[in-house]
Amino acid sequence: MPSFESDMYMRKLVFATNNRHKLDEVGEVLKGHLEILSLKEIDCFDDIPETADTLEGNALLKAEHIYNKYGYDCFADDTGLEVEALNGRPGVYSARYAGEDQNSERNIARLLEELKDKENRKARFRTVVALIEEGKVSYFEGKIEGRIIDTPRGTTGFGYDPVFVPDGYSQTFAELGSGVKNKISHRALAIQALIKYLQQK
Ligand code: IMP
Repeated sequence: MPSFESDMYMRKLVFATNNRHKLDEVGEVLKGHLEILSLKEIDCFDDIPETADTLEGNALLKAEHIYNKYGYDCFADDTGLEVEALNGRPGVYSARYAGEDQNSERNIARLLEELKDKENRKARFRTVVALIEEGKVSYFEGKIEGRIIDTPRGTTGFGYDPVFVPDGYSQTFAELGSGVKNKISHRALAIQALIKYLQQK
């Protein structure tokens, strides 16, 4: 079985995602701690299934796909936007909220339409990371609370970032930029928990 066990300098793990934004964000948070290998770097061009009905389930499906087929220790994340007035929707279905084509603009349009008459704009992003090391699975979670605004603002980030304002800030994630997002976001917190776990081992 191929192994990316720690070399003299830094441990390497495969990050099971095809999302360029996630690779950049996670790479930034892991800088100096862990090197990531993209799917491209292990010659994986698969369309990895995300058919579970929980974030944990989807994160595990993605990590298991790589571990079982390619044999690398790896991790994967799955993220949902949980909106209080929508009883936690879109949640695990955030990517395909407005259809199978996973279009962020249309997802945001549907979200704003559903929240049109709602005063309660509270929402949170929740990320679950599943790590598989030599067949052993561990999970890490990160959450950030905030609110959904009426009109998209900002140009950085991806997905629902232009309509999400984290608590304690007045700008959206898409306005705050990667410097702030990568310190406080759901994904950053989950990855920091992963780093802590690996350091304590
Ligand atoms: P997944 O983790 O790739 O399944 O993401 C689910 C959905 O949430 C996709 O539509 C993403 O665009 C969106 N999403 C995931 N992470 C973020 C984020 O950090 N900011 C905004 N939207 C996100």
